[in-house]
Amino acid sequence: MARITRCNSGIPPWHVAFSARRCLDRVFRFLPASQKAADALAAALLTPTCVVCGRLLEQILSPCVCETCWCNIPLITPPVCDRCGDPIARPEEVCRACIDRDHTIDRARSAGRYEGNLRIIIHAMKYHERRSLISPLAERMKTCGRKILNETDALVPVPLHQWRQLSRGFNQSAELARLLGLPVLHLLRRTRHTRSQIELPAAERRANVQNAFALRRRWLRNPQLLGKRLALIDDVTTTGATLDACGRVLKAAGASQVFSLTAARVVRRSNA
Ligand SMILES: [Zn+2]
Ligand SMILES: [Zn+2]
Repeated sequence: MARITRCNSGIPPWHVAFSARRCLDRVFRFLPASQKAADALAAALLTPTCVVCGRLLEQILSPCVCETCWCNIPLITPPVCDRCGDPIARPEEVCRACIDRDHTIDRARSAGRYEGNLRIIIHAMKYHERRSLISPLAERMKTCGRKILNETDALVPVPLHQWRQLSRGFNQSAELARLLGLPVLHLLRRTRHTRSQIELPAAERRANVQNAFALRRRWLRNPQLLGKRLALIDDVTTTGATLDACGRVLKAAGASQVFSLTAARVVRRSNA
């Protein structure tokens, strides 16, 4: 059953929401075309529930996840592999999967595992336009990615294909990068539309993103990139194929090191 609480002022949330609905009705009374927008806004005010557990939120205008659900996201905490960022049982330098691998990405970190509450939160941010979730996710990325951010000259968001960005209205990677406190360079573009990595079997993911990224024209043969330490920013790492493909482009352009920082990652079963 929904938990109903009071705001700090002592006024029950439904009373505030009801008053807000009445104000909105007055404002939009003479603008029938805007009624739909008024209804959507009123619905958000009348039923401010947590997108994870569905409980009524304590504050009408708070980000749309309750405190309990934020506390229960599956964070990745040390010890982690210094290369891929997967959690490991013992504090070794790198995990078994990384020992014999060639690495395009010099160091990767993610705030949490792409499962449970964190998966729901990222879906809500990306597919249901809950942009208020971007800031708290960026805060958690800052915490887990301190080592990377301290050694990085600039952040590079993983780009969306222009049609996908147009339909979504924003690029979540760029929005996250904007809040991480370092210069953001939009160096990359997608050369073609690719299917979402999440919906593909592991074997097909590398082929799906092969040659799918290129440097934007104005950065071609730009000496400013020589020797730069860059960090790719994305919301989710699945197999790392997308980040590898982007990293190859950045290294070919002259970057000395390429890191990656994401809000969540799919943890390899061998390391879980
Ligand atoms: Zn909740
Ligand atoms: Zn590793």
